[in-house]
This record gives sequence, structure tokens and C-alpha cells, in this order.
Amino acid sequence: MKKIVIEECPYCGSDLLVYGYQTDGGNVSTDVRGSVFGSPVQHTICRECGSIVYSSVVKPEYFKDYVNPEVKQKMEKAEKEKPKPKKEGILEIIVDD
Ligand SMILES: [Zn+2]
Repeated sequence: MKKIVIEECPYCGSDLLVYGYQTDGGNVSTDVRGSVFGSPVQHTICRECGSIVYSSVVKPEYFKDYVNPEVKQKMEKAEKEKPKPKKEGILEIIVDD
């Protein structure tokens, strides 16, 4: 994955970048009618000029309606190859001795 690091606001040059969250009614839904699964949106905001420099959903795994069939195949293959989590007990007790 290509990683882009944003160190300053491209509009005013300030490095005072902070996170803000768009939640509740502003969630991005997996369906056009709105749905049970909606993800809050995280914005990277410039404190100096107020520009929203970058936005992304907090829960990208909720979105499974694929634009491209090749992407769907790739995601399904990756899902199958994921190591299964080991079964562990439900209750964990920590005892000080
Ligand atoms: Zn700015």
C-alpha cells in the first residue's frame, strides 16, 4: 500500500493538523437508503485555515459492494488466506500473587 504522509496544509502551509470525526447522521452508509452499518468519517483538519485536508472512513471493512469485480475476487482471496484466530476461553482472570 502506498502511504502518503501529510505534514502540512496544502492550502495555507500550517502544520497544525488535527483530527475531527463526523458521526451519527453524518456517517457514511453501506447502502443508499442508510443502513445499520455506517462508518464515522475521520477528517484531518487544518487548525489554521479550517480546510479539510483529508477524509477517510473509520471502518472500511463495512463496505463490501465492490466497484470492480477484480477487486472483489482479490478481497475474497485475501479473506480466505487470513489465519483463523485460535479459540480461547471466554473468561480471563488475572490474579495477583
Ligand atoms: Zn490550512
